[in-house]
Amino acid sequence: MAKTTKAGPVRPGGTIGILGGGQLGRMIALAAANYGLKVHVYAPDADSPAFDVCSATTVAPYEDAQALAAFADSVDVVTYEFENIPHATAEILARHAPLHPNPRALLTTQDRLAEKRFVNGLGIPTAPFRSVDTVQDLSDALDALGFPAVLKTRRFGYDGKGQRMIRDGDDLAAILAGFGGVPCILEGFVPFEREISVVAARGTDGRFAAYDPCANEHENHILAVTRVPAPGLARETGDAAVRIARQIAEALDYVGVLAVELFEVAGPAGAARLVVNEIAPRVHNSGHWTIEGALTSQFAQCVRAVCGWPLGDSSRTGSLDVEMHNLIGDQADDWQRLLAEPGAHLHLYGKGDARPGRKMGHVTRLVRPRES
Ligand code: AMP
Repeated sequence: MAKTTKAGPVRPGGTIGILGGGQLGRMIALAAANYGLKVHVYAPDADSPAFDVCSATTVAPYEDAQALAAFADSVDVVTYEFENIPHATAEILARHAPLHPNPRALLTTQDRLAEKRFVNGLGIPTAPFRSVDTVQDLSDALDALGFPAVLKTRRFGYDGKGQRMIRDGDDLAAILAGFGGVPCILEGFVPFEREISVVAARGTDGRFAAYDPCANEHENHILAVTRVPAPGLARETGDAAVRIARQIAEALDYVGVLAVELFEVAGPAGAARLVVNEIAPRVHNSGHWTIEGALTSQFAQCVRAVCGWPLGDSSRTGSLDVEMHNLIGDQADDWQRLLAEPGAHLHLYGKGDARPGRKMGHVTRLVRPRES
């Protein structure tokens, strides 16, 4: 198959193809509309939230080579809002249109083992880890890493799915069987003081722009709150986190928005306190605050990056702190109260069924800086 001949910046009026139809795709599409661009969303589920706000849709599995090729032929550039897609899918797309971020970034970040090896290869710490395929592997890994430890599937994990803590005395065979025989990784438990993330972008010209590092709090393994600036985060440590994100983006020759999740552990301020947990090769929930809280939102930045446009200013909008709360499950039933709250910016994703644990929307507040 011929390689794509589409090159150069996408012009206003052009079309971005987005693989994945969730709320992230929906918010990228809304940002694209602001720049006079159209969006074609490809997703397997006919009920995808992004379909409400795009000009073209393809409903097909991620393995449908013909549908993927037709989709990529119909757009100027392809990006994705969901990284758990087969590598072959990325390769097909990349033959028909520029694909940002590139297939190598996808391959590296969708497998926790490959990702950790890549990050360590850059001299950046992660949790200690071992590859686990058998009960013997798991037992050996626990001997090496100690208790407690965290067992995770190598691929397809999100919001705490595909992971569990292992404690001394647990039935290892039963736990591994519960993971369904898929390749896993065991991570040593990191006694972190806080979880932070850096959302950043890299353009086709190699320019890099990071948002202020933010602090993330999870409930039931799902992101609940993001705060910017991260309370208690020393400036040197925040700067070191941004340098780590930049090093990762450059090593992957990355184009688009990425998020690097890090644990901050006890120690002197600076890089020594940082352990990379995960890289998301896409816009990220911990960047939703940028819609109101930064001069260019992560979604607008994603559009600019993948279209080959100059990156926008990622500075915070003003001197106010920003807090983003996810609305999970029936928390979104509070929409009328939130609409009535002065200064609360409500976002709803248009999902019909408020199942427990489902991200239904978020609310962002710009608040007076906390006393330190
Ligand atoms: P993940 O899916 O890897 O982002 O993990 C989800 C959440 O589980 C993280 O945000 C942490 O709160 C916790 N967690 C994951 N891995 C570890 C680890 N190795 N040590 C301590 N906590 C972890």
